[in-house]
Amino acid sequence: MPRRNPGRGVPQRAKDNRRDNPGDAFRCVGCRLDVPFYAPGTAHRNHCPNCLTSLHVDGRIPGDRRATCRGRMVALSLSVRPDGEWMIIHSCVACGELSANRVAGDDNALVLLRIALRPLASRLPI
Ligand SMILES: [Zn+2]
Ligand SMILES: [Zn+2]
Repeated sequence: MPRRNPGRGVPQRAKDNRRDNPGDAFRCVGCRLDVPFYAPGTAHRNHCPNCLTSLHVDGRIPGDRRATCRGRMVALSLSVRPDGEWMIIHSCVACGELSANRVAGDDNALVLLRIALRPLASRLPI
């Protein structure tokens, strides 16, 4: 006679080693500033408000943390969406991937302007 499964499943242990605590601050890889995770005007901060440097940690969706690259992402350009929202175009120095991120309310306006006013021609080989 086959032994019956008593039906006592091993309870799944809750994951307690989460790395991404939304309350955490991160240290900027560009200027070493300790950046609080909370940012005014955006759901999740993904770049430094001081120098706009970011880390390549997101995949297709901002905040998904699916990229394994971890390369440094520098602010390359600015783009304005049809609804008037400013986006920073980040470029990964490790793999060359581009991503668009929302400007946070406390981002350094001077650095933003400098990127916006940078002549496009200076980056093109003529
Ligand atoms: Zn920084
Ligand atoms: Zn990358």
